[in-house]
Parts: sequence; C-alpha cells; structure tokens
Amino acid sequence: MACQGAVVVERLVNINKIVPSALPHFPRDQAIINLPYRHLNRHVCGMCPFRIHDCDFQAEIPPDKAEPCGGYILLAILKHNGLLSSTDIMGACLA
Ligand code: SF4
Repeated sequence: MACQGAVVVERLVNINKIVPSALPHFPRDQAIINLPYRHLNRHVCGMCPFRIHDCDFQAEIPPDKAEPCGGYILLAILKHNGLLSSTDIMGACLA
C-alpha cells in the first residue's frame, strides 16, 4: 500500500508530466507547502489510505510542524511553479 501522493507522482512520471531528470532544483519553501491546495487536499489526500489514521498533516488537529508526505510536497512545489496544472493532478488522481 502506498500513499496517494506517491501514487500520483508515479502516474505523472509514467506519462512524462514529471520528468525527474529535467526537474530544476527548487529551494525548500515552507510557505509554498503550507498554501491551501484545494485539488491536492481533495483529490490526493482525499483518496489516500493513510489520511484517516496515519497522516499527521491531515489530522483533524495536526500537531505542530506536521508536514505532508514527500509526494504532496513535490506536487505542491510543481503546481506552485507552474510545472503542473490542477487538471494534470486531477487526471492522475482519477487514472
Ligand atoms: S499528505 Fe498525508 S494524506 Fe496527503 S497524500 Fe500524503 S500521506 Fe496521504
């Protein structure tokens, strides 16, 4: 079982929407990660088997400094920088 963030990233790699070897380096920016990404929260986390019991980031009362998984972070950074669209993400969620 994999988290939905990883599943969606893998699907986007498989259709060349994410090309790992061509990704620019993005400095870590907590402000970007903390932005409210409706599509990520609904379509990625909303379909994630870890959301209910195993994900602090999506807990009803998240602990301080709770962070999303790596897949979510990558999707948020690529979305924020215009390298993925909401349609790309939704399409991969529903594939
Ligand atoms: S942030 Fe949590 S709920 Fe969302 S995809 Fe990652 S592990 Fe799943």
